[in-house]
Amino acid sequence: MKNPVKQIRFPALEEILDLIQDVAETSSRWINWQIIRGKRHILWETDWDVVSRWAQSIIETEERLRQITQRENFLKKYIHKYHAGSEAAKAALPDFIEELIALDHEYMRLERIYDTLLAGCPVGPIRSGYEWIRKEPQWYLKSEWLRQDCARRGGCCGRQCKCCENPPDPMRRKGWGHCTAQCACCNDELEDGFRLTERNRRMLQPDFDLTVYPWSDYSREIFRAYIWSLD
Ligand SMILES: [Zn+2]
Ligand SMILES: [Zn+2]
Ligand SMILES: [Zn+2]
Repeated sequence: MKNPVKQIRFPALEEILDLIQDVAETSSRWINWQIIRGKRHILWETDWDVVSRWAQSIIETEERLRQITQRENFLKKYIHKYHAGSEAAKAALPDFIEELIALDHEYMRLERIYDTLLAGCPVGPIRSGYEWIRKEPQWYLKSEWLRQDCARRGGCCGRQCKCCENPPDPMRRKGWGHCTAQCACCNDELEDGFRLTERNRRMLQPDFDLTVYPWSDYSREIFRAYIWSLD
């Protein structure tokens, strides 16, 4: 919700920011423009409860979409492997295929939730910033913090495999991004194909909660990276 007092005090600033927006969006000065949006947000957006609940929901939904996409990739890989394997290995195939069908339904369900959340995005700089960043399907590669976070968590950005740069399925664009606990390559690396231990799962996909104040350092970084694409 906009603060009416600030609205009266800063109309000139708003006009200038609108002008800068037009220029910045056609230039390559991505980071600078996002910083301006961030500052504008601090001036204008006062309803932090609404913003943080919305941000938590949409970031979580994006994470779930990535998990599903990566789990599908994991299963497809093992279907190939088991298909060429022993009879015992082939016996596991129907379960894998059933799970793939269930994941397809879940992806579509989450995609609808995502679209609803996007439509309900708080108006103002948050909305324009978020939508602008997501216009680029591989936006997550622009953020140095997200790449380093992936590497620190034990994800593929810390190795030479380049999985995050080569997303699997063009039909799963909303599921593109850095590693989650379902990444096939990370699972191979950490557990050699076996189920992740709880410790490794938490390392690869740490919890965060933007609805709990004060924010942890990690929550703050997550918000900056996912909503503003700032390092
Ligand atoms: Zn990898
Ligand atoms: Zn990975
Ligand atoms: Zn990564």
